[in-house]
Parts: sequence; C-alpha cells; structure tokens
Amino acid sequence: MRKVYLDHSATTPVHPEVVDVINKYLTDVWGNPSSIHSFGREAKKGLEEAREKVASLMGADPKEIIFTSGGTEADNMAIIGSAHANEKKGKHIITSQVEHHAVLDAFKHLEKNGFEVTYLPVDEEGLVSVAEVERAIREDTTFISIMHVNNEIGTIQPVEEIGAITREKGIIFHVDAVQSYGKIPVDVKQMNVDLLTASSHKIYGPKGAGCLYIRKGVKVPSFTLGGGQEKKRRPGTENMPGIVGFGKAAEIAARDYEGEMKRLSGLRDKLVTGIEERIPDIRINGHRTKRLPGNANISFRFIEGESLLLSLDMKGIAASSGSACTSGSLDPSHVLLAIGLSHEIAHGSLRMTLGGSNTQEDIDYVLEVLPEIVERLRSMSPLYQRKEACKQKECYEHVQ
Ligand SMILES: *Cc1c(COP(=O)(O)O)cnc(C)c1O
Repeated sequence: MRKVYLDHSATTPVHPEVVDVINKYLTDVWGNPSSIHSFGREAKKGLEEAREKVASLMGADPKEIIFTSGGTEADNMAIIGSAHANEKKGKHIITSQVEHHAVLDAFKHLEKNGFEVTYLPVDEEGLVSVAEVERAIREDTTFISIMHVNNEIGTIQPVEEIGAITREKGIIFHVDAVQSYGKIPVDVKQMNVDLLTASSHKIYGPKGAGCLYIRKGVKVPSFTLGGGQEKKRRPGTENMPGIVGFGKAAEIAARDYEGEMKRLSGLRDKLVTGIEERIPDIRINGHRTKRLPGNANISFRFIEGESLLLSLDMKGIAASSGSACTSGSLDPSHVLLAIGLSHEIAHGSLRMTLGGSNTQEDIDYVLEVLPEIVERLRSMSPLYQRKEACKQKECYEHVQ
C-alpha cells in the first residue's frame, strides 16, 4: 500500500545527511566537549560548528544560541525565566490564545504564581491584531510572547510589527518559531525579537534537540544548576548527536528552503483546490495567503476528525485533527475555537502538513481516496442524512 505522510508539523523524518553526522558523533567523535584533551577538543569543535549553523539560519550571533532539549524547554525557559527576571518592574505579561501548549502552560503556571496574563484573541483567520497588542500594553507589562507560525492552521503572525512596538517600549519579546524556522525566512534582527525558540525535529533533525536565541544583554536565568555548559544557562553534558544533527539540519534547510517553499505551496494549493472541487460542505481554516507553505487545515461538516483520521490511516495516509478525543479531552482544539468555529465544525477538522517526502503523486492519491471516505462517513451521519432529505423535499429547515 502507498504510504503518504502528511503530518510534518508533528515531526519530520531525519534527513539522510543528518543521520550520517549523528552516526559520526555516536561512534568516532564521542568525547566530552568540556574535556581539554584531543577527544574533547574534537567534540567541542563539532558543538561550535553546529552553533554557527543554527545561528546563521536566523541571522543571530552564535554566542546568542543556547542549546536545549527542544522547543518545549526553550519556551519554558524564555517565558518563566524572563517573567521572573523582570518581576520587580512589573507582573503583567501578554500572549495569544492560539499558542502551543508549551507556551500556554508556562503562562498558566505564572498566572498561578502571582502574574497577570492577557491572552489576546485572534480574528477568524487566526491573526493577532497589532493594534490590540498595543492597547493591551500597560505600565507594568514586562514580557510578550507571540508565535511566528501557528502549528495547527499555519497562519503567520505580524511579529515584525509587534517586535517594533516591544522594542520601543522596552518590553521583552519572545517568539516561538518552531513551525517557521527552516521553512520560511526567520531573522531575529528584522523581527525585533529578544528571545526565539527553534526545534530540531520539525526541520528533519533528531528529536530531543532545540535552542533558545537570547539577544545579547537579555537576562534569562537558568532552570538547572550544575556545570558551566551553555554559559551556565543550561548546564549538563551536551547532547552531542542531537546538537550536531540539529546543526546539519539547519545547514540543509538554509540551502533548500526557498525551493521547498515554492514546491510545497504548489502541492498544497493543488491539494486544497482539489478538495474544494470534489467535496462540498467544507471550510478552509487559517489565512489564505499569510500561511505556512505546507499547511492545509480543512473542516468537513457532519463528520468527526477522528474517524476521518482512522479511515485515512487504513489507506496509508497520515494526518492529524483538531478533534481531541485521543488526548482524553472532549473539547476540540483551542486554536479552532479561538478562530470562532463551533464545536461541531472544529471536531470535523483535518490538518495536513506537507514536507520533503511529498510528491504530486501523493496529492493525486489523497484526492482519489479522501472524497470516498468523506462520502461514506457522511452517509452514516444522522445530521447529514437530515440535510440531504431536506434538500429533496425542498424544505428550508436550517440544519446546524
Ligand atoms: C512542536 C512544537 C513545540 C515543541 O517543540 P518540541 O521540540 O517538540 O519540544 C513548540 N511550539 C510549537 C509551535 C511546536 O509546533
């Protein structure tokens, strides 16, 4: 059976060139980068080269990069660290309603510990309003965190403009760029950010590696205590295979991402238009143009995202959904609710995120398989049957 992976925002396969580098650091170069002998020096060289590559892809100085265990740790460190470092100045902090849980849960933690949080709403395409950011800022606001690209609906936020405001007002600005770094242009100077999160496994690197960019002079206290690694901000012997793999992935992304942006936008548009032509009663979620090239998020009325996922999986197609039954919660995705979808429509959503492995043939296959699945699931849905019956009788009863 054909296998089609359309879940690149969840994780990506490790690039073969990255695998080679990781192997080298598991077998030949296994020294501790803190050791002063030749084994240590060789590892240290690999560590600093990886730092240069990761920094270069975001226009940063390598000295401003702290390696972490991934995006979640970097988000936590940036938010909790920065809020506490500035708490004497004020305890009001701002974020949006559509952030990743790594950000939202850090804010909730701070809220429980005496901070006041403003969760900014978004419009129906998922955009945060720059004017609303400005209005939310108070005398005691010290920190703002707004993501670059949303992981569910792919909307690209106006971080440059928000950064211009925070810079002028002396507020620390953090951006979770896990879904944009290595996929679209990310430049810390142009974006006016103080702190920025990136993750390796979303850009064809290994899991368990990521980084926090900390602009020179910005204070972020350490969570862990121990050795002097990563300028004492993240002590502990470095995850060398993870870090050099992340470095290689950043190098490859720098080389390939512009071409991939065009190719993936083309494939995504073909997928979305194909679905629009073949399947009625759908809603395209996210911004039409300000969106990640490989992201398609579509709600199918009258069906459950979970059943759609299972049926697609049986045909070898892997995607994800804003329906949350698997996570043990009955509420659909907070992002889909924030853009104003009803529970019913949010539960029928499907996220397909394209990446390196996808081809035209993959899209053709999805367009062949998906309409049949949707039709079959709808035929079992009481709401859909009622709607069809109404059509035949020309009754105008409104169907929810
Ligand atoms: C995946 C993701 C994270 C978490 O990164 P990990 O490296 O998996 O911890 C954080 N933010 C966003 C937007 C993500 O998509």
